[in-house]
Amino acid sequence: MTERAYLDHNATSPLRPVARAAVLGALDAPANASSVHAEGRAARARIEMAREKVALLAGVEPGSVTFTSGATEANALALSPEMEVRGEAVVFDVLLASAVEHPSVRSGGRFAADRIELVPVDAEGVIDLTALTTSLNRHREAGRRALVSVMAANNETGVLQPLREVAKAAHDANGLFHCDAVQIAGRLPFSLETSGADLICVSSHKIGGPLGVGALIARDGVRVTPLLRGGGQEQGRRAGTENVTAIAGFGAAASQAALDVDNERLRLAKLRDAVELGIREAAPDAVILSGKASRLPNTICFAVPGIAAETAIIAFDLEGISLSAGAACSSGKTGVSETLKAMGVPPETAKGAMRVSLGWNSSENDVSRFLAAWKRVYEQLAKRAKERAA
Ligand code: PMP
Repeated sequence: MTERAYLDHNATSPLRPVARAAVLGALDAPANASSVHAEGRAARARIEMAREKVALLAGVEPGSVTFTSGATEANALALSPEMEVRGEAVVFDVLLASAVEHPSVRSGGRFAADRIELVPVDAEGVIDLTALTTSLNRHREAGRRALVSVMAANNETGVLQPLREVAKAAHDANGLFHCDAVQIAGRLPFSLETSGADLICVSSHKIGGPLGVGALIARDGVRVTPLLRGGGQEQGRRAGTENVTAIAGFGAAASQAALDVDNERLRLAKLRDAVELGIREAAPDAVILSGKASRLPNTICFAVPGIAAETAIIAFDLEGISLSAGAACSSGKTGVSETLKAMGVPPETAKGAMRVSLGWNSSENDVSRFLAAWKRVYEQLAKRAKERAA
């Protein structure tokens, strides 16, 4: 098989060699981490080592980390209308989430549908802080407490949200702040402290760890209501025999991601800029979505009006280039991305939205291959679009 260029790290990032080694090490030593025998204790040690590494990535103490089956579960766990905060039972009457959240947040976790409100974003996809504050004040005056959920970086456009301001607004209104940090982790320096959040979630497979494991990280004194009850695993916060192999791989990936983040952000930004320049050079009518906002250094979402993303993605695939139409979770389904709709992107442009997302194994060679393919794909599809319009 010829070499391919994989440019879809926001969908999932290939397994890092260190994570693979950790997974294999744990696979070869199967045990239930709750068992008291030597094998069980070794499994426990692997989990606790991984917990320390994930904690370091988020700048927290290991005790703050609860392992889950991924960020979808971590979001569902975080979005809990009942919590214990500094020893007191607290009820959240409403969930305020930005309109560009991942579907696992937009669907509201354990909040009833009529208790979920979406906060608008501007044309770049950045949350409207005035709308958030107005909404928080309205609820506060009516005696309602809000949980606010705003992601650190968007999976489709890479746009960064003003987390400190969101945290302040939520706290001023006596609410709490949950932040989906899935796409920022390992891509830019990030911590629970700098975000001002009370809860954050991360996902292993977006940072080069194995699929099917993630974590919810809670500020000291914040305890969400468990979603899965049964055994007392994860200090009673998440029942179920721990997935030692995946957790071990997650820990190894987290460690490497944290170590590399300062160099990688610069390296990827350079590659990203080269991709962006090359896209525009070949296609002067290309639009870079969220292009005027602060973004992740690895993500480019672009469109050419008249060129359907679905067609272009297939053409790229035949060229040996893997990328996504908008969000991977929504590509494969038809219909326009909710994120782009919330940004007010015209449907004609939104239908053409493609995402290049780079990561730890992306190289200059990948960029050159992508740009060479883009010239061919663009020429062919733009010609067809013109013929259709004629
Ligand atoms: N949040 C964001 C921003 C994501 O991009 C994703 C993955 N598409 C998730 C949550 C869900 O993560 P997981 O695949 O671990 O369930």
